[in-house]
Amino acid sequence: MENKTYDVAVVGGGIAGYTAALTLKNFKKDFVWLGIKPFGEKLFNAEQVRNFPSFSGNGVELAALLERQMIVEEVPFTRAKIDGIYAAGDGFTLTCGKISFNARAVILATGVETETAGNASEYLGRGVSYCAVCDGPLYKNKTVVCELSSKNYEEEAEYLAGIAKKVYAFCRYKNSGFRAENIETVDDPIVKIVGEGRVSGVVTKSGKTVAADGVFFLKDSAPPAVLVGGLETEGGHVKVARDLSTNIRGLFAAGDVTGRPYQYIKAAGEGLVAAYSIHKFLIHEKSFATQNLFP
Ligand SMILES: Cc1cc2nc3c(=O)[nH]c(=O)nc-3n(C[C@H](O)[C@H](O)[C@H](O)COP(=O)(O)OP(=O)(O)OC[C@H]3O[C@@H](n4cnc5c(N)ncnc54)[C@H](O)[C@@H]3O)c2cc1C
Repeated sequence: MENKTYDVAVVGGGIAGYTAALTLKNFKKDFVWLGIKPFGEKLFNAEQVRNFPSFSGNGVELAALLERQMIVEEVPFTRAKIDGIYAAGDGFTLTCGKISFNARAVILATGVETETAGNASEYLGRGVSYCAVCDGPLYKNKTVVCELSSKNYEEEAEYLAGIAKKVYAFCRYKNSGFRAENIETVDDPIVKIVGEGRVSGVVTKSGKTVAADGVFFLKDSAPPAVLVGGLETEGGHVKVARDLSTNIRGLFAAGDVTGRPYQYIKAAGEGLVAAYSIHKFLIHEKSFATQNLFP
């Protein structure tokens, strides 16, 4: 655990998080920008970006420009997948496994990721998890299903296989390669989670039911309410006021996580606004009343 307390922690390596970090740097704030990869995976997959002012090209080219700016402006990036954000005293503690970061305020810029099983949120804390390391030990000698968004998560599935009796791996990519003998890959997407009260299995697109005690979604983004207990959401997005404050004092949100349109220019704009709002919040911290922020 770091002893220091940052002014701000920005969570999310996408364009919203980057713009927030760049703006905080200009405000000379002491911040930590946390994410899985600078500029996020989505940018690298964009074939053509035609709606970002003054730019025309593909995502890789835009990422190269952003990286050049990040180096010139000396915006530091810390690789960390945050698994929990907790209000603690006058600020927040953010955890990444056994590592933690402290900050007076937080900008949540974690993007959105589509869920294959639309009813996963009904089973949160009742068999659905987004973190193998956090919840894996609950499934000793049991059967679990895991849905992996990319090869990067095979290590987490292998970790689960070391605890559980059996792991069914649903991979949303080609050419998976597992070492553990108790991992069975299923090439038939999950469409629904089933169970009375808690998870008893998943139903696949072909109509097959796979019995399981737990379901792990191993991917970059977890729903915001999973990361931050008590966070108000609406239709899966974080509910924000015009200044991008949330119902939790000192916690702001920016980018796709706050809702549509899902566009770079909107995400970048919100990253900037959230950083401005936090700058104001940190000056007037004591008198800053969250209930006044919602219009
Ligand atoms: C294929 C494709 C093409 C697109 N093309 C265009 C286009 O041409 N024009 C356009 O305007 N928009 C386009 N978009 C939409 C655009 O990508 C998004 O609107 C934009 O990326 C949103 O930025 P963001 O920073 O809010 O979120 P993201 O880019 O999703 O970034 C969020 C980041 O947070 C990270 N993260 C999530 N949870 C955690 C956590 N717990 N701890 C640490 N990090 C975390 C994720 O890894 C991710 O990198 C496209 C999207 C896709 C998928």
